Amino acid sequence: MSRNKSEYLINRKDNQYEVVIGLEVHAQVTSESKLFSTSSTKFGAEPNTQVSLVDAALPGMLPVINKFCVKQAIKTGIGLNAKINKRSVFDRKNYFYADLPQGYQISQFKDPIVGEGKVILDMPGGQKEVGIERLHLEQDAGKSIHDLDPKNTFVDLNRSGVALMEIVSKPDLRSPDEVNAYVKKLRSIMRYLGTCDGNMQEGSLRADVNVSVRKKGSKEFGTRCEIKNVNSIKFMQMAIEFEANRQVDLIEDGQSIDQETRLFDTKKNETRSMRSKEDAHDYRYFPDPDLLPLEVSDDFIEKLKLEIPELPDEKKKRFIEKFKLSPYEATILVSDNETSNYFENVIKKSDVKLATNWIIGELFAALNEKNLEIAQSPISAGNLSKLINLIKDGTISGKIAKTVFEHMMEGDKDPKKIVEEKGLKQESDPKALEALIDKVIDDNREKATEYKSGKVKLFGFFVGQVMKVSAGKANPQLVNEILKKKL
Ligand code: ADP
Ligand code: MG
Repeated sequence: MSRNKSEYLINRKDNQYEVVIGLEVHAQVTSESKLFSTSSTKFGAEPNTQVSLVDAALPGMLPVINKFCVKQAIKTGIGLNAKINKRSVFDRKNYFYADLPQGYQISQFKDPIVGEGKVILDMPGGQKEVGIERLHLEQDAGKSIHDLDPKNTFVDLNRSGVALMEIVSKPDLRSPDEVNAYVKKLRSIMRYLGTCDGNMQEGSLRADVNVSVRKKGSKEFGTRCEIKNVNSIKFMQMAIEFEANRQVDLIEDGQSIDQETRLFDTKKNETRSMRSKEDAHDYRYFPDPDLLPLEVSDDFIEKLKLEIPELPDEKKKRFIEKFKLSPYEATILVSDNETSNYFENVIKKSDVKLATNWIIGELFAALNEKNLEIAQSPISAGNLSKLINLIKDGTISGKIAKTVFEHMMEGDKDPKKIVEEKGLKQESDPKALEALIDKVIDDNREKATEYKSGKVKLFGFFVGQVMKVSAGKANPQLVNEILKKKL
């Protein structure tokens, strides 16, 4: 039954199985205060310093809904092309855990604030639509800390009561790659909307990953396992690979799959059983008597629609139509708001084609190497557009521009200054170039004769020599013209 870990079923050509995946994404609502209290949600504070009496569930404390969080959830629903429910209900989901002082989580069960929607993924083989089942608002629990002390567990209630949106997908995903694209798309939409910062290191975006397998062509779904609380896309993908293989091995061995809740062990790269899957009735859901049903008017929703910015799909369409970008280029440039803003700022004053190439090529590579986001780019949009204009007007060659770019990465400096200070200006004076070229021909008499007698391939050699002697500064176009005449 054991399988070599590298022998991934879902990558195997001969495999007869298909993996089916549905995600429950928990996205922390961008909001200064919690869902039912005024405590701060700021990340990284000392433990238990952002806990109100409501968050600590002292007897008699009553929750008060945070209107801003409601707006955020509705905006997200609009971004997911989803139905907004004018009436939704908060329920108590009852369970015991030390980091849940209320003894229940306030969530939404039968009547969520957002109903069905969809998102579009750009996959290499074309577009793929993924259905959204629902989005509901709920509170986060506190955090149990098990690794500070060998004998004791500590509880930090700073997260207790923080607003989460649980976004439940339909079981429409079919591969780890689609999961990657799906989570990135959700994150991108929410970042555009400003409703979730999507910061996975800080736990703002986590997912429960439901996985089942079935024979290809089968109409029915297999029994699923739910892998709890995975906090990086890489881990989601690894967990799916492992879990799909485990399930296929069981089926091939004549066994059946138990519907289970499992966890992903990131050190051993495997999923492990936590408990048999709980059912909704185990939680004894019932409407929270402390909260009225949440009712929003058409007017309220319409006003929020006016606040929705241009989202990635529309922006992509505009970039393709208006700037003649390829779908590939547009997809990359709209992936987040900061990148698209940067791009639009660069092209305000410079050539679109060059800007696209420089951003997707040099800039991304350089930022990647330094592990920086575009918002932290040492090169401002304004200075990149100046650099592009220096290429465009012939002041420097594309090659020299790379050198200037490297200097710019060391600190945001005006490229014109760098060109002056380092003497990198392109040599476009025909007289000066002629002198250079005469010298090169003179130094290579034999080759020049060979060229004249028909060995035309040598032309490239001469261009190379001139560029070398000029330390890359000679205007390549002029060098070509003059060389042709002289040779
Ligand atoms: P629960 O709340 O008990 O986890 P839901 O019905 O809300 O159950 O479904 C949770 C997730 O499981 C959804 O994202 C759904 O797409 C996914 N899912 C449902 N059935 C399957 C299946 N057979 N295989 C994979 N995922 C599934
Ligand atoms: Mg679930």
